[in-house]
Amino acid sequence: MNRHEFSRLMSMSEQAVGGGATGSTPRNAANASADYCEEPAKRLPVRRFDVVIAGAGTAGVVAAVAAARQGAKTALIEAKGYPGGMVTEGGTARHSFYTLWKAFPGVKKRHVVRGIPQEIIDRLLMVGGTTGHVEMSEGYDYDSVCTAIDVELYKLTVFEMLDEAGVHIFVNSLLTGAIADGSRLRGVVVESRSGREAFYAKCFVDCTAYGDLAAYAGAEYTEPNDYPVANSISLANVSMEKYYNFLKKYGTVTQLARGPRSGEDDQIVRLDGDSRLDGSSANLPEGFREGAKKIGMSLVTATTHDNYFMFIKINFKMPVSPTDRDAVAKAELELRRRQAEAVKLFREYVPGCEKAFIARTSPTLCIRRGRLIKCDYDISHEDVIEGRHFDDDVMVYGFHDMAPRLQIAKGGTYGIPYRALRVARIENLLAAGMMITSDHRAHMSTRNTVCCMGQGQAVGTTAALCAANNCGTRDLRYPILRETLERAGVYFESK
Ligand SMILES: Cc1cc2nc3c(=O)[nH]c(=O)nc-3n(C[C@H](O)[C@H](O)[C@H](O)COP(=O)(O)OP(=O)(O)OC[C@H]3O[C@@H](n4cnc5c(N)ncnc54)[C@H](O)[C@@H]3O)c2cc1C
Repeated sequence: MNRHEFSRLMSMSEQAVGGGATGSTPRNAANASADYCEEPAKRLPVRRFDVVIAGAGTAGVVAAVAAARQGAKTALIEAKGYPGGMVTEGGTARHSFYTLWKAFPGVKKRHVVRGIPQEIIDRLLMVGGTTGHVEMSEGYDYDSVCTAIDVELYKLTVFEMLDEAGVHIFVNSLLTGAIADGSRLRGVVVESRSGREAFYAKCFVDCTAYGDLAAYAGAEYTEPNDYPVANSISLANVSMEKYYNFLKKYGTVTQLARGPRSGEDDQIVRLDGDSRLDGSSANLPEGFREGAKKIGMSLVTATTHDNYFMFIKINFKMPVSPTDRDAVAKAELELRRRQAEAVKLFREYVPGCEKAFIARTSPTLCIRRGRLIKCDYDISHEDVIEGRHFDDDVMVYGFHDMAPRLQIAKGGTYGIPYRALRVARIENLLAAGMMITSDHRAHMSTRNTVCCMGQGQAVGTTAALCAANNCGTRDLRYPILRETLERAGVYFESK
C-alpha cells in the first residue's frame, strides 16, 4: 500500500465513520500479514462547531484563541492533558526570535512577531514565567535574543487564555479520523474516555505537528525523516555559574545572556557551548565531549530558576519516520537510556552538578518533522534567504536556525504567504506549524516556535472568517484577512 492509498483508506466517507487509532497500524498490519478483522460500524454522537482545531501545541493554542476571539464557536482537540506542545517539551532552550535586535550590525531594531504570541509572553511576565526578551551579551551573531520560559507556567497561562477566549477545550482527546465529503471536510472523529464522537464544523485547522488531520482527510504528504528526534530533560540541583565557568575554562562559551532568574536581575539565563562538539569544544575533557557526542547531547541550556537547567537536549536519529509506532517504541527507550547517561556526564565532569537529577522529561519523544503536508504553496529556501514578501502575507519572520551561516538578506524579514497554509485540494482545511515547508533549509526557519505561533494566529483567524462567511479557504478575500490580522496586532512589512 503506498502513502496515497493509505491516505485514502484513512479518509472516511460518510457511510464509514470510524478511524484507525494511529496511521501506522494498518500499514504495518498490511506489511506483516494478510490477517484483518472487520470493525463494526458505529453510530457516533455529533457535536457542532464553527471551527475545529486539532492539536493544542505551539501553533494550535494561538490558532484557537484567535478563532474564538473572532466569535467562532471553536473546538480544540489535544491528545495530552494540557496545552503547550513542543514549546513546553521540545528543547526550546532558546525559545526566542520574536525580535530583530542586534544580530545584524546596522539593522533597525524591531519587534516582528507581535499579536497573540507576544501577549503570551506579556502574561507570563506577570507571573514570573519568563525572562522576557533578553539580549545576548556574548555570541549574538546567531540569535540576538533569548526568551526563556517556565514551561509549567506556560501550560497554565495558555490554558487560562484559551478558557478566557471561550474555546471548547478537549484535552486527553485523540483525533482519530476525518469525515470527508469529496474535497470538503465535514467532520473529525475524536476519541476519549467519554467515547467516540464526531465533531462537525465549517472550517478545520491541522496543528498536530504530525499532520494527522490532513493525512486522515486524504491530503498529499511525504515523510522526509530528515531530523533527529529528541527527549529533552530538565536538570535540577545544578549551578549555572559553575557550568559557565566549566565551559569558559575550556574556551567553548558560544553564547551567554543575562536576565531575571528566581526574581533577581542580571543572572545567567542562557548558556551555549559549541554544540557541534567539533569546534571550540576540542579542549573539553575527552570523556565529557565524547560522551555528549555519543548520546546526541547539546551544550545549550536556558533557565528562569536558580539551580535548574530548563532544557538539556538529547537527540537520536531514527532509521525510519517517527510515524512508525514500533520504531518509536525503540527510540523512546533509547532516549531514556541516553538521558540517564547525560546525568552521569554532568555529575562526573561539571562542577556544581555533582548531585544533579532529572526533574522533568517529555511525556513522549519530540519531533522536528513528522509528515510534510502539501499546501497550495511551498515556501522555498530562496523565499526565506532573500527576504521575499508576498501579496498575501499573513505574518513576517526574521530568524534562521542556521545563522550565521544562513541569514535572511540584510537582516530583514520574509513573509509567510496565506497560500502556504492552505492544504492542497481540500476546500476547508488549513495547516500550521512544523508540517509545512519541504525544503530543509527553509524549514529551519519556518519551524521555529515563534514562526509556528504566528502561523497559528493566521490560520485561526482565517478559519473563523471562513466560518462566518460560509466560504472555503480559497474564497476568502485577502484584504479582509489582512485587516483583521492587523487589527489584532499582527505586524507586517509589506503593503
Ligand atoms: C528537540 C527540539 C528542539 C527544538 N528547539 C527549538 C528551539 O530552540 N527554538 C525554536 O524556536 N524551536 C525549536 N524547536 C522547534 C519547535 O519547537 C517546533 O517546530 C514547534 O514547536 C512545532 O510547533 P507545532 O505547533 O507544529 O507542534 P507542537 O507544538 O508539537 O503541537 C502539536 C500538538 O498536537 C497534539 N497532537 C498531535 N497529534 C494529535 C492527535 N492525533 N490528536 C490530538 N492531538 C494531537 C500534540 O500532543 C501537540 O500538543 C525544537 C524542536 C525539537 C523537537
